[in-house]
Order: sequence, then C-alpha cells, then structure tokens
Amino acid sequence: MRMANVGGRASLVVDGRVVDVERASGGELSSDPMVVTDLAVHPRLRELLAAAEPWNLPELDPTHLGPPVPRPGKIVAAALNYRSHAEESRLSIPDEPHVFAKLTSCVAGPFDPIVVPAGRDQVDFEAEIVVVVGRTMKAVAERDVWSHLAGVTCGQDVSDRGEQFRPPARQFTLAKSYDTFGPIGPVLVSPDALDDRDDIGIVGRVDGAELQRSSSSDLIFSVPALLAWLTRFVTFHPGDLVFTGTPGGVGESRTPPVFLRPGMVVETEIPGVGVMRNPVVAG
Ligand code: ZN
Repeated sequence: MRMANVGGRASLVVDGRVVDVERASGGELSSDPMVVTDLAVHPRLRELLAAAEPWNLPELDPTHLGPPVPRPGKIVAAALNYRSHAEESRLSIPDEPHVFAKLTSCVAGPFDPIVVPAGRDQVDFEAEIVVVVGRTMKAVAERDVWSHLAGVTCGQDVSDRGEQFRPPARQFTLAKSYDTFGPIGPVLVSPDALDDRDDIGIVGRVDGAELQRSSSSDLIFSVPALLAWLTRFVTFHPGDLVFTGTPGGVGESRTPPVFLRPGMVVETEIPGVGVMRNPVVAG
C-alpha cells in the first residue's frame, strides 16, 4: 500500500492515481495526512483501495506531494549505522547505536527546496531510509518491530558540518534541524509492499551524479535492532520517525569535498518507494 500527502490531504496512490481517504470513506476517516501513520486504520485503508476504480480517479501530480508525515511527534536519527560511513568519518564501529534528534520543524516535502542559510558553506547531504512508527512502542522485541511500523520512506538528513563540528563541543541537533533540513517522501510504503524489508536499497545523487548507494542489509544495527534498542528507553507513537543512518559517500568525506550550493539538485531514491528531488536554494 502506497500512502501520500496530496495537497495536504491523506491519500492512497494506486497505478499513479489518487484515492482521497476522507472522500472515499464518506467522511469516516480524517483528511489529515497523519491518519495513515496509525496502523489501526490500515485495514480500512486496504478496503478503500480494494473498492477503488482507478480509471475513475485523478492522476497523481507529483508537484502536489507534501511530506507523507507532516507533523511527526519526534524524529530520532542514527549517527553511525553503516560501516562505510563510520570508516570515511575515521570513527570505530559502535557496539551500541549512537543517535540524535532532529527538530520536527525541519520536515519538508519530497520536491520542496532545501534552503541554505546565508554564509553557510558546509551544508552536506545524507540519503537515508526512514521508518514510520504505526503503533505505540515500548520495550518491543526485535522480532515484533516490523509489525509496529506503518511504513518506509526516503529521507535526507541535511547537515551543516560547520555547525555540527564547531569547537569546542559538537552540536548535532541544531546542525541537522534547520528549516527544510528534513525532506521526506515521496510516498509512505507499507512494509508488506517491499520486495524484502530487510534489504531496502538507498541511493543518493547530487546533480545527477550517484554519490551514495547501499542497502539496509549493510546496516550495523538493523531496523529491528535499532528500534528494539531505542524502545528500551523511549516510548514511540504513531507518526514518529526514525532516520536509520546514512551510508558512505557524504560530501565532507570526498576529495575535494562536495557541499550543497544554490542551484544544485539532491535526489534520494529507495527502489520500490520512489525518488525525492529537492532543489537547493539560498536562504
Ligand atoms: Zn544521518
């Protein structure tokens, strides 16, 4: 099942066409895009899909897509979760996850601009697999994690390296939370619709050049391991997001470095989910 925020309304996408959740349910379900993050309503959404007549539905205009989860309760992100990124960062492989928070106000749509504030010349890209929580999670065992997730989407963990590593103390949260520094999308795909939920591809491109490529099968802490560990300490609710980490190939580790400048275009792709395309603009 493919869920989306089309023009600010909860929607399902089938064969490139749009089912409006509120209208199709006769007002039973809300038009708020957050409604699709609640696994309790997924059986009803599947009924709406089964009843849909695609030839009677409007075609999806991708420019109308907003972030599939516009108001997450929280965003937790893994700092080091691919060996290739740990190695390029000259850091050792962690025994337990290292995480940080992104402020929820950084969320942007899949085709929205990434705004680089004036004077910031070390803004970097991080293509990531993002999972969306679908029911309350507290101390969930690894084997039960996937049944608590509403779906998977693409994310960019845009990061101002200058701020992140500004001496004397590192400052991850602010450096990764500027407005527009958390685009997600283009749609939210339920785990059952993925070919292999433990081998999800992730690709990052800048101006058409592929700079990152990996798979969730290369994660140091798998999605079940990461969420089981996090929920030992923190309760998660429907609509919360977890950015699962970025593979090697980020801009600061390149020779010469590649930082985002106005006019560039950042693409983030998960095969089976879709492609986000975010232009970089000056703030
Ligand atoms: Zn990241």
